[in-house]
Amino acid sequence: ENQHLVGALHKRLGSTAATLINASIAHTSLPDLTSVTVTLNNGEKLTAQLLVAADGTDSGIRRQAQIDISRRDFHQQAVIATVKPARNHQHTAWQKFLPGGPIAFLPLADGYCSIVWSTGIEHAGQLVNQSDADFRRELGDVIDGRLGVITDSSARFSFPLFQQQARRYVGNRIALIGDAAHRIHPLAGMGANLGIADALALAELLADQTDDPGSPALLNRYDRWRRSEVNAYMTAQEMLRSCYRWSVRPATDVRGLGVSMLNKSVIVKPELLLRTIGLTGNLPRLMQPMTSA
Ligand SMILES: Cc1cc2nc3c(=O)[nH]c(=O)nc-3n(C[C@H](O)[C@H](O)[C@H](O)COP(=O)(O)OP(=O)(O)OC[C@H]3O[C@@H](n4cnc5c(N)ncnc54)[C@H](O)[C@@H]3O)c2cc1C
Repeated sequence: ENQHLVGALHKRLGSTAATLINASIAHTSLPDLTSVTVTLNNGEKLTAQLLVAADGTDSGIRRQAQIDISRRDFHQQAVIATVKPARNHQHTAWQKFLPGGPIAFLPLADGYCSIVWSTGIEHAGQLVNQSDADFRRELGDVIDGRLGVITDSSARFSFPLFQQQARRYVGNRIALIGDAAHRIHPLAGMGANLGIADALALAELLADQTDDPGSPALLNRYDRWRRSEVNAYMTAQEMLRSCYRWSVRPATDVRGLGVSMLNKSVIVKPELLLRTIGLTGNLPRLMQPMTSA
């Protein structure tokens, strides 16, 4: 997917006035009131009115701008792999909340699924290191054979799970987007989507601005908008995650009753679904559902 996305972006860039420079940022100067300068690893210096930091979880730009973060470790790992179940995924994302953490099957082309299995550190190590046959058997068992046996699987990798958020999404002449601003639990597969929403929100504010693109007023609007949306998302996700950690009665009965009522609700269920896939709230214009004229 990433390959296709990056390919499409490169293609689009070719038809714009943008210049792609094949170098990384070595240093960001402390911005002055009107501009910010970055030094690339090829020695070149670039000066602009606004620097958009999309440099990921360990953002060097965020660090150099001295923007603090809050971080919470889940003391778990996510195991990822591409697998092929015997039954077709029906272009549906399947998810199950196991006692150790959620497992998600996200539909890919040709009947394959991308899986994200959140689990304890020791178990994650076993899943990565066990034989392919053992892994496929265990995977088929945990989803109760819903998708049939697992007939093929790729190499497996694991990542530490943590939630992280910049205390502000902006600095002087700097806007953070994507994982540079926030990293969430991958249980709903929403990390990249939130980053795309950041980019669209910032683009929208910039399109509506006629003068200085890095003005404090514009950056503060971006910060308030996106930080409140991501906070709301993180809170909803944390509530869901906490609910599914309950493993004893009567808590599990209460959860079962709640989920069954929710499933029948014609008002709350659609709203909650839209919230978890990021299609409700204060959305950038380009993410809003199309309405017929
Ligand atoms: C296990 C796991 C599963 C996930 N599953 C999903 C999913 O199913 N769906 C989903 O939407 N999200 C998912 N995510 C989240 C998603 O991967 C991230 O949210 C997304 O990749 C963040 O994109 P980004 O561009 O902000 O950062 P990154 O993808 O980290 O990209 C940052 C880029 O900046 C570059 N960079 C860094 N420093 C410099 C520098 N100094 N100069 C120049 N370039 C630099 C890096 O090389 C990198 O290319 C998952 C995450 C994990 C850990």
